[in-house]
Amino acid sequence: MELLFGQMINFWSPMNKNLKPLLFTVTADARQAIVNYLSFYRLNYSVLTNHLKALIDNERRILAKLRLIRVDDVANFETYHSFNEIVEIFGKWTAMYPNNFKISVIGHTYEKKPIFAVVIAGSNSKEMYDGTNVTNTAKVKEIIFLECGIHAREWLSPATCLYIANILLTNTNDDASLLSNYDFHIVPVINADGYVFTWNSNRMWRKNRNPGNFPFGPCYGVDLNRNFDVNHCGEPLSRLPCHETFCGRSAFSENETRAIRDYIISLNSTQRIKLYFSVHSYSEIWMYPYSYTTNASPKVSIYKEASRRATEAIKQTHGEEYTYGQSSEVLYECSGASDDWIESQNLADLSFAIELRDKGDYGFLIPPKFIKPTAEEIWNGIKAVAFL
Ligand SMILES: [Zn+2]
Repeated sequence: MELLFGQMINFWSPMNKNLKPLLFTVTADARQAIVNYLSFYRLNYSVLTNHLKALIDNERRILAKLRLIRVDDVANFETYHSFNEIVEIFGKWTAMYPNNFKISVIGHTYEKKPIFAVVIAGSNSKEMYDGTNVTNTAKVKEIIFLECGIHAREWLSPATCLYIANILLTNTNDDASLLSNYDFHIVPVINADGYVFTWNSNRMWRKNRNPGNFPFGPCYGVDLNRNFDVNHCGEPLSRLPCHETFCGRSAFSENETRAIRDYIISLNSTQRIKLYFSVHSYSEIWMYPYSYTTNASPKVSIYKEASRRATEAIKQTHGEEYTYGQSSEVLYECSGASDDWIESQNLADLSFAIELRDKGDYGFLIPPKFIKPTAEEIWNGIKAVAFL
């Protein structure tokens, strides 16, 4: 169908091996042709809505009502924020939590927007000293890393990461916050250009905004989560510049992936990343490497146990049942994904990709009221693995 209908069809849910239903949108002028195609091949289908734009407009109305300014109010993290609002929040956090919060710019997107990394650390962490005033009690700690917003339309990912950051900042003295053992490094919106584009132009955009695919093709954007150097461009479809999963001209051809690569490598010179999470939506799946092959990681038994505990902790939170497993088994095979690259280069003890809520009722348009329960359950999942 992808080959036949090209950009007239936009898959929301990933192709999967489990014969789960696929959710996709189609352009108005392709609607009848696609219905005919499905009928011809006797594929069961149902039309969920003929008014996608109305759903997007409705999301805007809800967000307009929820717009808050007070950054010390937890409700501020129960809504979606534009890129500029997120930058504003970081400014306020820098002033509010000087001993626990640090921000750095790790690179710039194609459109020259800053790519931020934030560090949240306990006040006894060496991370919070600039080298001149290090005390004897300052500790070098292991890192828990959250990579968020690599796919632009997955708004729940940056929102969940911000919510978790706020949990950490408001509970710094609590052992349960994990800050006595770990520094948290969070890249909240790695695909800043794509994210801004979903706010301003096309809510369903996934890739970055690099227009530089000429003379190969007329389309914008590289799928950043296909651009890492691990079996790069392994699938024929992802070599097409107009495809949703275009892998780019070469591994790390994109500013955004190079920024995160260099940041992670520099962290590794002094600290160890204990846990790496690539946070996506949606489908409710907790995954471990590999994506690019069905061969198992040598750490598969640890991964299985960690994922079992994480999904159990998630279930205990609000009853939500996430599945877990190796990405290439529970989702699909794909190359160039960040969590696979981390694993293949041994840059973290454990590397996961999480598909957040929901299971397809709202998909990418999941209303903001679900941010809080999603973040709470994922936080419990992370803690279950950190305490392993
Ligand atoms: Zn994604």
